[in-house]
Amino acid sequence: MALKIFDFDELFTFKAAAARDGRRVSQKDLSPLKSARLVSVDGKILWLGPKKQFKASLLKPWGGVRAFEQVNLSGFLALPAFVECHSHLVFAGSRHGEFEQRNQGVSYEQIAKQGGGIISTVKATRRASESELLALAQERAIKFLSQGVTVLEVKSGYGLNQSSELKLLKVAGQIQGPQIVPTFLGAHALPPEFSDVDSYLDYLEQKVLPLVKRRGLAQRIDIFWDKGYFHSPRALKFLLQAQKMGFAICAHVDQLHSLGGVKSLLELASVSLDHVVQLTDPDITRIARSQSTAVLLPGADFYLRMKYPPARRLLEEGARCALATDFNPGSCPTQDLSLIGVLARLEMKMTLPEVLVAYTYGAAAALGLQADFGSLEVGKSCDFVCFNAGLEELFYSVGHHPVKGVWHRGQQVYAH
Ligand SMILES: [Zn+2]
Repeated sequence: MALKIFDFDELFTFKAAAARDGRRVSQKDLSPLKSARLVSVDGKILWLGPKKQFKASLLKPWGGVRAFEQVNLSGFLALPAFVECHSHLVFAGSRHGEFEQRNQGVSYEQIAKQGGGIISTVKATRRASESELLALAQERAIKFLSQGVTVLEVKSGYGLNQSSELKLLKVAGQIQGPQIVPTFLGAHALPPEFSDVDSYLDYLEQKVLPLVKRRGLAQRIDIFWDKGYFHSPRALKFLLQAQKMGFAICAHVDQLHSLGGVKSLLELASVSLDHVVQLTDPDITRIARSQSTAVLLPGADFYLRMKYPPARRLLEEGARCALATDFNPGSCPTQDLSLIGVLARLEMKMTLPEVLVAYTYGAAAALGLQADFGSLEVGKSCDFVCFNAGLEELFYSVGHHPVKGVWHRGQQVYAH
């Protein structure tokens, strides 16, 4: 049994932000505690509060204070660990050539038509072996971990056929370090073997989805809902079928065009709506009133030089928002959380508390994991990150990561 006592000079629990369900948060909702103590038993928080309120008798059932390892983290700032709720982590190859093309004025859609874009990554990923993909994904996962991420969502979507999609999900399941949440994204793009979207969705529904389910490779399904991708009544039927099979739904929606996807996906109780750049006024209200989390991915908007989602309007209407990198080789080849936070502050005018809550509680909610992660409270997972910096220094300097240590389920998983 792992028994630990952590002492902090300054701990932000985000308890009030969680009580507000991550909506309309301000500085006070970060719930600061000075001279704080946190007790963890087997990775779960047993007690948390000001050190002077702690009573040693609480630990009697576990053999008393002496049975506990004491960890002194005074001198550092501690926050709930970050959750990266949208990443395309498993892929081979690079698309740096397209970056230059896009800089010369060629559009993302034109590049896709020339056989570039997602399909070029699909070709490289299909060729790569499971062990090659795992080595690449593992290194990337550690890069996230070193920035304070202890829960990491990983999508498939660069296989686009049965064997390759299963290979990607299998690789995701073998990544060590952060807790991995795998998502099946077979409906990412139309593979070259299929000439129409409907027959590809038939194939996914009949051949691939049942295998993903039977082998327990993912509990979530994602779809690229946009013009030139998947946005038909057939696509809705596909999601409905996945839902009947027990998959939770999330979606890349209305990134490039407004196609009414938000309304349809909310009717399906999509856990998250990701990108949501091209929103109508009624869409914003619908999201704000729903239980779905708006996942904002400003790194992709930055790299594609497109407009940013209407974050301020979403937040002010009471939507729960998350932030994530959307790390992928095409539209966001960076894993840098500091860049995402700085873009959120500069380009979407999010406040620092909004950014911090979006990258913790909001992101956990986008994965349906807010009962365990996203804030530090009794009964939740003991996942936190310690910084060698003040709160206001976070998400300020791009590329600067003053992380001192990362704890996941009460264990230190990264030290700097
Ligand atoms: Zn994405």
